[in-house]
Parts: sequence; C-alpha cells; structure tokens
Amino acid sequence: MIITRPKTIEEILTMLEKFAPSPICVVGCGICARKIQTGGETQVTSLVDELRSHGLDVLDGKMVKHACSATSWDELSEEVPALAQASALLVLSCGAGVSLLGRISGKPVLPGLDTTSIGGALGDDISEGLCSMCGECDVAIYAGLCPKSGCPKSQVNGPCGGSSDGDCEVGGRKCIWARIFETLDSRGLLALLDDTRPPVCHDRRL
Ligand code: SF4
Ligand code: SF4
Repeated sequence: MIITRPKTIEEILTMLEKFAPSPICVVGCGICARKIQTGGETQVTSLVDELRSHGLDVLDGKMVKHACSATSWDELSEEVPALAQASALLVLSCGAGVSLLGRISGKPVLPGLDTTSIGGALGDDISEGLCSMCGECDVAIYAGLCPKSGCPKSQVNGPCGGSSDGDCEVGGRKCIWARIFETLDSRGLLALLDDTRPPVCHDRRL
C-alpha cells in the first residue's frame, strides 16, 4: 500500500493558480488512497466543495478504480465523462497515479497528495514507512524492520545520538533501532549487526 497525506488547501490553491488552466476535474483513487482516506469518494467530494467555495471552476470529482493502473484513456473517460472536458486534473493518489494519468491524458496533472512511503494495512490499522524502495532490499539483516524507511535519518548501522530510552528524537515515535536490537536479541541474531553497512546507494533505484 502506498502511503499518502493530503496537501493543505493553500498548497493546492497555489499550484492551481500556477499550473492549471480551467476548468479542472478532481480524481481520486479507489485503491490505496481510498483505504487510507486521502483520496476516496468522501475526500474527493469534500475537496470539490472546498475548491468551488474558493471560486474555482471544477467540472466534477470522481474516484477511479485504480489511478496507477488504467487500461486506456477512453475507458477512464467513459467512467468519468468530465475527465475528457477538463483542461487539467487534480489527482488524489500517489505520485505514480498522478504521473500515469498525465501520460495517458496528455493533460496537465497536479498532485493533491504527498506520497511518503510504502506501508501496510492490518485491518484498519495502517502502518506507514515500511519501505522506501531503496532498490537493494537487505531488511533480513534488520529483523524485517527497515531502518532506511523507518528511521528519519535512514541510519543503517545503529541508532543516532538522539535515541533515548527506545524513543526517537523525531516526531514522538519509537526509535526503530531499539526495535531492531530487541528483536534480533530475542532471536539470538545480534551478530548480524557486526558488519558495517555502506550508506544507501541511490543508484540502485534507477
Ligand atoms: S531495505 Fe530497501 S527495499 Fe527493503 S524494505 Fe528497506 S527500503 Fe524497502
Ligand atoms: S533516534 Fe533512532 S529512529 Fe530516530 S533518527 Fe535516531 S536512529 Fe533514527
């Protein structure tokens, strides 16, 4: 599941003023963004109302089945007729959905959400930051708890100096390194941390 969070209305209004010709259509995504309530029908309808209250020309707002996996523009336009008439699309999905809709529509597309990580859902419980797609998955070393995505500094060789009593110095979260250490220790696998790991190589993502 791709984790997204909403941009503020001020950010969206600024983007629309800079990049989007009128009229626009707001598009949500029926998979991840619906599940975590950033781009489902409710969020689309509420954003359309808010944009109209600011005087914007919004033709329609609809959630498509999958923003990142459309079969064809014709099919999408059939699903949401306003898409074809809109001069630009404001998309409530992950960046992949925004990009794909831009490619198949040939229209300007604007992201209404910020994409932060890959996460997971256990029932209604959403876990964020489980993976940041580094291109070199070595999470087995870390007991399945990825520090590249779960640590704000992507520390791969142990905690930074801000770790205190198992808590992280950033954002009121647990330090993932405390969890890694506890889990490996309980399995008798602490020796996995003996080797120094190189920093994340971003080339591997290409
Ligand atoms: S090591 Fe890389 S691919 Fe594996 S979970 Fe972490 S960020 Fe994702
Ligand atoms: S306290 Fe732990 S999780 Fe927080 S930044 Fe430092 S190493 Fe990363």
